This record gives sequence, C-alpha cells and structure tokens, in this order.
Amino acid sequence: MAVYSHSQLSMYEECPRKYKLYYRDKIRPDTEAIELFLGSRVHEALKKCYDDLKFMKVCSLEELLAYYRNIWHRNWHPAVVVSRTDLTAEHYKARGEELIKKFYRRNSPFNTDLTIGTEMKLDFSLDDSGKYKMLGYVDRLSRLPDGTFAINDYKTSVNLPTQQAADGDRQLGLYHIGVQRKWPNAQNIRLVWHYLDFETELVSERTPQAISALIQSTKRLIDIIEADTVFSPRESASCEWCEYLDICPRTKHGFMVRELPLEEYLSEPGVVLVNKYAELKAEARRIDEEIDRIKEKLVDYAKNNDAEVIKGNGYKVSVTFSEKLKFPGKRDEGRDELEGIIRGAGKWDEVSTLDTHALQDVLEEGTWKQDLLDEIREYGELEQSSSVRLSKLREEDIGELE
Ligand code: SF4
Repeated sequence: MAVYSHSQLSMYEECPRKYKLYYRDKIRPDTEAIELFLGSRVHEALKKCYDDLKFMKVCSLEELLAYYRNIWHRNWHPAVVVSRTDLTAEHYKARGEELIKKFYRRNSPFNTDLTIGTEMKLDFSLDDSGKYKMLGYVDRLSRLPDGTFAINDYKTSVNLPTQQAADGDRQLGLYHIGVQRKWPNAQNIRLVWHYLDFETELVSERTPQAISALIQSTKRLIDIIEADTVFSPRESASCEWCEYLDICPRTKHGFMVRELPLEEYLSEPGVVLVNKYAELKAEARRIDEEIDRIKEKLVDYAKNNDAEVIKGNGYKVSVTFSEKLKFPGKRDEGRDELEGIIRGAGKWDEVSTLDTHALQDVLEEGTWKQDLLDEIREYGELEQSSSVRLSKLREEDIGELE
C-alpha cells in the first residue's frame, strides 16, 4: 500500500482524477502559483529563525528580512504565476515581508518553548500492522516548559478559519498521531496554527476519542483510494485553478477551443455536434410536449364518447383505463411499517429483489470486505456504455468564448 499524506488525501477528496494525475501518473504542473511560492519562502525564513536559535543566535528582524529577500530572488523562476491582474509579484513579496514582521514582533525573542525540530518529518502507521502508512512534515515541533508538545503550523492565508474548523482539522490531527507514535510518553500535545496575517494563534487539542475517530475515518478513505480504479473527475469551483485543464476529460475540449477565433470555433467538429444536438433536443422537447397535449385530448375524447379505440387514417389509438394500488416508495412515510408487516409474515423473500444499483455503489466505494467484493465481482459482466447529457454553459464560460 502507498504512503499517504494529508495533502494526498485532500486532493483525492477534492477530485480523484487530479489526485491520479499528480500522485499516480506523476504529471507535475509546469507553473507555480505565487501564493504557494510566497508561502514556501515565508516558511523557509521562519525555519531559519528557529534553526539559528539552536546555536543561541537570535536573528534580528533585519537579518531575517534580508534572508527572505535573498531566497525570494534565488528561487524565483519564470513559471511563477500571478493570477490576479491587479497585483504584481512585488505586492506578494511585500506581503511576505509584512507577515514575517508581524510574526517577529509577536514572538521575539522566541524563548517561550524549546524547538525540537523544524520541517520535521513524521512517518508513522495508523495501525499496528503498518498497513496504513502516513507521512507529514511539521513546520515546527516544540516543547513547552510544562512538557507539552506543540505542533506549530504557519499559515500565510488571507482567511482566518473558525475554532470549529481548527478542532476538526485533519492535518494536524494526523501529526498528533505521528508525535504520539514517536514519543509514546508524551502526555499533552497541543496543535497550534499561527495565522501570520491576523497575528493570531488558533489552538486545539484532541481527545483520545477524537484521535480514534480520525484513525478510523482516515483508514476508510485510504481503503476507498486503494480500491479506486477509475478516479473520476469531480468538477467543482476549484477546477478554475486546476493545472490539468488541458488533459482532464471534463475540461480539455473547452481548453482546446477557448483561444480559437469565432469562425474556427463555430466550425470545430465538437462544437458543431453539440450545437446540432442542442437544436434537436429542443425540437424533441417541443414535440414531446405536443404529444402529451394530444394524449390528454385523446383521453378526454375517449371518456366523453365512451370509446376505447379511436380510428385515424391508417392508424388507431387504444385508450385503456385502469386502477392500481400505489405503495409508499423507499423514503415515503409508511414504508418501514409496510416492510415490517411483510417481514413479520415471513413473506419478504417472495417480494424483495436485489438492488443491483446499490450493489454497484458498494463495489465502487469498496466499503465491504475485500474477499466478499472479489467474490461478487465474479458475477458481474463488464459492459461498455456511454451517456450523453446536455446542459447549459455558465455565464462566465459563455463570456470566455465571445
Ligand atoms: S479540471 Fe476539475 S475535474 Fe478536471 S482534474 Fe482538475 S479539478 Fe478535477
């Protein structure tokens, strides 16, 4: 089984296809968002600050800022992308300096705890057999005077999350497990997020129950990832920033035609087919509505004339009237009661059937025992199928094409 990190799990949750392209196929984006570039440089500067302390050296703010400017220039590369058109790289660089100043003012002379490690690697297993392996890097692990371990995470984000979000955060929750595995005698572990822009720390602790629930949910997610063979793309608002627009099956056509001049765009074979399909579907909808109206009139005609067969030119229409009992559906009121009566009478097997759609869902999610799933799979036959669904483009997508 692969080794998992919180970032991997999050990317899978966001979009299984993106996860596959990045982690399984190892297709790395050739651009770097400036927000990530900025975050990395600020993290490196704060790392230096605490690494120097190990040699009893307290960095001055000027020294730290000079270091930051230096690594900014040394690491800069042409593929760093500034998406906001109203901002430049210099704005981001200045923002990084401001974040470092705020952190420095709030924490110098950095003597409230003892640093155990910076960018500290934590590799550990969620279970005793070593099946569910995890990997993570703690920005800074420290020990407070009362012996409490503090897992420190620096955040350069422009948003401050709620305490509730911090209490449910998976990443530092997993690091908690990693620290506990490395130092089994650690009595207290505190999770601390330093929101640099807000000069605020969010602090959270985990109960043993919360940790065991986290282990279970993470193992479940890893099982789902391991059983996935399709890695379906999951479209969401975050597609806008996805680096795989040109190869993702959900977006590659839009990506391919988005720069075409209008005339070429309108004659591109895919565009032609979709336009024709949409036209025909609208026509089919109009015809269906017309058919429904005529059907209603035929029923009225049959009722009013007490006739069951109505003749036309070369065709006839038969109208039948019948009554049947409608029972409550799966989620309707009275369904449980009805099922209870039938089960109680010992007649359930005579009227129940296997829900093969539900079975397909179970196989896809892989939540049952593997040997049972394998046995069930033997009875399935692989069928190729396709579906075509028409939907409206969003306003912004239309704008892009004009
Ligand atoms: S474009 Fe959207 S659906 Fe496609 S891989 Fe990226 S995030 Fe997933």
